[in-house]
Amino acid sequence: MEQSKNNGEGAVFPREQWEYCDRVRLLLSERMDHPPLAHVHSYGCQQNVADGEKIKGILARSGYGFTDSVSDADLIFYNTCAVRENAEDRVFGNVGALKGLKKKNPGLVIGLCGCMMQQEHVSEKIRKSYPYVDLVFGTHALQLLPELLYRVLTENKRVFDTAERSEEFVEGLPIRRDGNIKAWLPIMQGCDNFCTYCVVPYVRGREHSRRLENVLRDVRELAEQGYKEITLLGQNVNSYGKGLTGDVTFAGLLREIEKIPGEFRVRFMTSHPKDCTHELIDTIAGSKKLCPYLHLPVQSGSDRVLAAMNRHYDREKYLELVRYAREKIPGLTLSSDIIVGFPGETYEEFCETLSLIREVRYDFLFTFLYSPRVGTRAASMEDPVPAEEKSRWFRELLAAQEEIGAGRNEALVGKTLRVLAEGEGKSGPGYLSGKSPGNITVEFAAPPERIGQFSDVRITRSLNWAVFGELV
Ligand code: SAH
Ligand code: SF4
Repeated sequence: MEQSKNNGEGAVFPREQWEYCDRVRLLLSERMDHPPLAHVHSYGCQQNVADGEKIKGILARSGYGFTDSVSDADLIFYNTCAVRENAEDRVFGNVGALKGLKKKNPGLVIGLCGCMMQQEHVSEKIRKSYPYVDLVFGTHALQLLPELLYRVLTENKRVFDTAERSEEFVEGLPIRRDGNIKAWLPIMQGCDNFCTYCVVPYVRGREHSRRLENVLRDVRELAEQGYKEITLLGQNVNSYGKGLTGDVTFAGLLREIEKIPGEFRVRFMTSHPKDCTHELIDTIAGSKKLCPYLHLPVQSGSDRVLAAMNRHYDREKYLELVRYAREKIPGLTLSSDIIVGFPGETYEEFCETLSLIREVRYDFLFTFLYSPRVGTRAASMEDPVPAEEKSRWFRELLAAQEEIGAGRNEALVGKTLRVLAEGEGKSGPGYLSGKSPGNITVEFAAPPERIGQFSDVRITRSLNWAVFGELV
C-alpha cells in the first residue's frame, strides 16, 4: 500500500486515493438501486470531530450522501474515542446495537475508526467478538480510507488497518464541514507529552505541526467562504512550530492570522500550561480577532499529583500565569479540565484542587473521574482509594464549581456582548441563539437573516444556561 508522498508542501493525500474514491463511486452507481447513504458519528474531542469531517469528505467524494439515522444507512462509521473508559463503553454498546441491522441488511458496511482502534487490545476484541464489523482502521490510516473501502466492497472479507505510521500531517484530504458558520482547523497532530494518565500519545502518535503557510491558506479560504469563527486545534497548541524550519511559534502564527482580512473570530484549544508564555497572553490581549478565552487545563492543584502526572508545572507557576492573563486580558473567560482520583491522590491533595478552583474562579470546568488506560504509566500505579470515595470527592468538586459559577451570568446583565448567531433560539419563534466571545449562550430577538452574523446584544436578564438580551 502506497504511503503519502512529499511534494514540497509536506505529506499530501496520495493521488491514487482520489482514484479509489472514483472507483468506489462507479462501483456503487452500478451496484445500488438508490443513492447510497452514510451515517458517520464522531465521539470525543474536537480533533476527532475534525477527522470525522475528513471521513465525510472522502465518503462524499466516493458518492455517498448522508443520513442521521442508522436504519437508513448503507454504511455506518463510528469514529471512536479512547480517552476514558465510559467513552469506550458507549462505543461498544452502540456497535453491539448494530448487529440486528446487519442481519436484516447483509449489504450494510460497518466501519470503526479513530483512537480506540489504534489500541491493539481493542481491535483484537472487534476482530474476535464483533464479526459483523467489516472495516477497522486506526488514526494512522485515515488517508488510506478510499482504498480500504474499495477493498471492503470488492474483496468480500473484513479489512483491518491499524498499523502505526510515524507520518507528517497529511494535507489536502477532502473535507465536508458540519456547518457553514464555525469551522474546526487542526494545526498539528499527535502529542509528545506523555502525561502519565493519558492514552493520546499512544493512539495519535508523535506531534507534528502543519506548515505555517498551509494553516494560513486554510484560514484565508475559510474567511473567504464566510466562516465567522475558526477554532485552531491541537493537543498542545502552545508547542506549535516545534520541528518546523524557521522560527515558528504559536504566538507568531496567531499574529499572522490577525493580518488576514475579514470579519471572523478565532479560538484555540488546548493550551498546555507548561508551554503557555507571556508572549502568547500578550498576543491575545493585543488581538481583535482572538476571543478573550483561555482553556488552560490544570488537572490538579497539588504539586505532588502534578509531578506524578508528568505535567511539568506546579501550582504556583500555574497561578502566576492566571494572574498575568487576568491582568492583561480584560474580561478573560477561563476554563480548565480537572481529574479527580488520580492513583494515590489523597483527600488532602484533592482539597488542594478545591482551593485552587476557588482561587482561580473558572467560568467553566470540565471534570473527570480518573480512568485507567491500558499502556499508560498511571495504570500500573497503586490506586488504593475506593471508587465510592472518589465519587464523593467528585460531587464535592461539582458543588464547589456550581457555587463559583452561580453569579457569572448575572454579572453580564447591563453589558453589551458581540454575539455570533448560530441558529434559532429556545425562547420561541423570532428568537436567535448565539455565543459571546467567552462562549456563553445568548438569546435575543432578531430576524433569521442574522444567523451567521455578528450582532451587538445588550444583556437584560440571566439564567443558569444562558443570558438574554436585545439587539443594540
Ligand atoms: N491535550 C489536552 C487534553 C486532551 S484529553 C491537554 O493536555 O490539556 C482531555 C482531558 O481529558 C484532559 O485534559 C484530562 O483532564 C482528561 N483525561 C485524559 N485522560 C484521562 C484519564 N485517563 N482519566 C480521566 N480523565 C482523563
Ligand atoms: Fe494527553 Fe497530556 Fe498530551 Fe494532553 S498533553 S493529550 S493530557 S498526554
